Amino acid sequence: MNAAPTWASRWGVAVTGALFAVAIGAGYYLGGTAPAPIELGRRGGPDVRVAHSTGRDLTLSLRGPWSLEHRAPRADGFATWRRATGDARWSFRAVGDRIAIDGPAHSSLAGRVRVRAASIRDGARPVWGTLDLAADDGALRAVATLDLETYLLGVVGSEMGAAFPIEALKAQAVAARSYALARAARARHRPLAPTVADQVFRPAAEIPASILRAVDETRGEIIGTRSDPVKAYFHSTCGGATRDAAPDFDPSSPIRGTRCGWCRHSRRFSWVRSYRLDDVTRALEAVGVQVDGIVRTVRVLEADDSGRARVLGIVDRRRTTKLSGDRFRTAINRAVGRDRSRRLLSTRLTVQPTPDRKGLAIKGHGWGHGVGMCQVGAAGLARTGADYRRILETYYPALPVTVAWGAETPTP
Ligand SMILES: [Zn+2]
Repeated sequence: MNAAPTWASRWGVAVTGALFAVAIGAGYYLGGTAPAPIELGRRGGPDVRVAHSTGRDLTLSLRGPWSLEHRAPRADGFATWRRATGDARWSFRAVGDRIAIDGPAHSSLAGRVRVRAASIRDGARPVWGTLDLAADDGALRAVATLDLETYLLGVVGSEMGAAFPIEALKAQAVAARSYALARAARARHRPLAPTVADQVFRPAAEIPASILRAVDETRGEIIGTRSDPVKAYFHSTCGGATRDAAPDFDPSSPIRGTRCGWCRHSRRFSWVRSYRLDDVTRALEAVGVQVDGIVRTVRVLEADDSGRARVLGIVDRRRTTKLSGDRFRTAINRAVGRDRSRRLLSTRLTVQPTPDRKGLAIKGHGWGHGVGMCQVGAAGLARTGADYRRILETYYPALPVTVAWGAETPTP
């Protein structure tokens, strides 16, 4: 079988050039001006890999020109298996470690499959970039590969909302660019998750003008340097102060905590939760904490400079067991599951017994882990007239913003 280079140099360029050549942005207005339809193409930066789906099967609608490449189980490279210029639908199903492919008048069993097309859709979901499929013990995993600047168009609006002030969106674009670059460099084999586990990524058929502007006007700008990008964490609402990343959240991170006076209007700024002691006991036991009988109370033994509980004491009838604030929050949130109204929103908290002494009343501030940029605070700071550089200096104190890459010549 032929390897891919001939195809890639001759025909692949045409596909990449045509990639995303769809009118997007129609219907969005900013400052009273409708943006002109744009072509996404290849926008710049290194490629990133993002998990698309894991399941038993996947059906894709392709708009041409498209190609399917195969890779045999022990082969080195991909070889073109089918290609055409018209539209087509292909179905893929995991059969052990192989992929069964069904499409127009063809079927096959492949080790791996790479899908390229001018446009790929998974049902109503657009897929950006090329899609690699691999089967592992009956599970079909799909991973998209696309350039970082294009990836950001699917992240910034999902993480912050297109209606946020433009300078806050620009700060979000720089933070998300740095995070993705740092995360990809440190765990190359593992694709970025399209969820809060990394960054929420939702490719869409239309991109709001504010998001395009935020990404394009900060092109290539990152926190740290190209060779040492900062994994620029961010979160919804700090509740008055962000925290140092080290030593508890990420021991190797240089991100320091700071005061924030711009998220007070958030409805997550302060909150109260109460949990029954037997529920707390079950939640802790489910993450491996040993409790003798029922938890009697929980005490904050040590708080950090930002007021977050670093160490909690879980008191039962015999002893006090130490547990980190982050682990306590994870345990509670796993136990409450999908009930968002019962989630413990942060570790910036104090604990009291409930009046009947059968539960814990927890008062807290903020929502999220508290490291790096406070998104609601960034919006508040932007409304005071601060530009994105000042927002970044505020939430990533003493860390440089540098330009890791500039404008790229668009692929013809
Ligand atoms: Zn804040």
